[in-house]
Amino acid sequence: MPELPEVEVVRRGLVTHVVGRRITRVDVGRERTVRRTSRQAVIDGLTGHTLTGAGRRGKYLICPLDSGDAVMIHLRMSGQLRLAPAGSARPAHTHVAMSLSGGEELRFVDPRTFGEVVVFDPARADLEVPELARLGPDPLEDGLTAAGLQAVMAGRARPVKALLLDQHAVAGLGNIYSDEVLHAARLRFDRPAGSLQPRQVADLHHAIVEILNAAIEAGGSTLADAQYVGLSGQPGRYQHQHQVYGREGAPCPRCGPRSSVTRARYGGRSTFFCPRCQR
Ligand SMILES: [Zn+2]
Repeated sequence: MPELPEVEVVRRGLVTHVVGRRITRVDVGRERTVRRTSRQAVIDGLTGHTLTGAGRRGKYLICPLDSGDAVMIHLRMSGQLRLAPAGSARPAHTHVAMSLSGGEELRFVDPRTFGEVVVFDPARADLEVPELARLGPDPLEDGLTAAGLQAVMAGRARPVKALLLDQHAVAGLGNIYSDEVLHAARLRFDRPAGSLQPRQVADLHHAIVEILNAAIEAGGSTLADAQYVGLSGQPGRYQHQHQVYGREGAPCPRCGPRSSVTRARYGGRSTFFCPRCQR
């Protein structure tokens, strides 16, 4: 599932390749992708218009249009935005295709169809995309500080990983990057968030910013399922820098042969951690 770094890489691709180009035609296949409104609302809301920018909050792409509306795109589990020459064969599961001036097509491809494309009126965002207002601070876009993270954690009995995954607490982290930042900060996933000392919150904050930025620089993480690729189909490279995620049984990069990366089931998903250096 794409997390903040992967969505940010896609956002940068949109800025480079799509912003400023007119959308001349829109095809909507699977209606589930546009379930929030309707096929016609998405076609009418995009056709003839131009993205004037590309923004991001957490895992949401939010792009203003020259009509005054905006388009929100959420990749969810398996969504991809792909740029391809017009007329080239569309991959299976292409649910929205936007023809761009200049002869290319921006495609929303989503095998599992949890993703969404919504054209909305920013003045009515509270009604039309209410989840945006409920998002917690984005660690990069909103300049989350250690003090801000402390405020999120203080007094909370919930495990620190649950809080990191909660988009209402901090926006953008998913299973991969929460495991990586907890290892970097030497914190166990099930440690109550409110039990962290200020220095530990500062270490966690530092890890979040460092790792998200490093992952963006590396083009995000592409796992064996290849569910994430960039706009031009390019895979990420940050998976080669993962310290714990997906590395069950490997020596902990910090502890060496004295401890192995361990996998636990947590919240219905796999959690990877080192039982020796994460406390
Ligand atoms: Zn370790």
